[in-house]
Amino acid sequence: MAFDTKLMEILACPVCKGKLDYNKEQQELICKFDKLAYAIDKDIPVLLESEARHITLDDPANTFENAEQEG
Ligand SMILES: [Zn+2]
Repeated sequence: MAFDTKLMEILACPVCKGKLDYNKEQQELICKFDKLAYAIDKDIPVLLESEARHITLDDPANTFENAEQEG
C-alpha cells in the first residue's frame, strides 16, 4: 500500500501548521516555509520536527514538482 496523497489534505506541518508538499521521489513531506523534510516511514509520515531533515530550497537536488498551485 502506497502513501495515500489524500492524507495530504489533513496533514499539517507540526511547526507552522501549514500545508505540506509531497516529494514523491524522496518519499518525504516538505514544508517550504520551515525548509523541513519529513520522512515517510512505511507509508506513515513522521511529522516530528526533531526527526525532520533540513533542506535548502535553492539546492537543485531538493527541487521537486509542485503540481498544485493554489490562489
Ligand atoms: Zn512548517
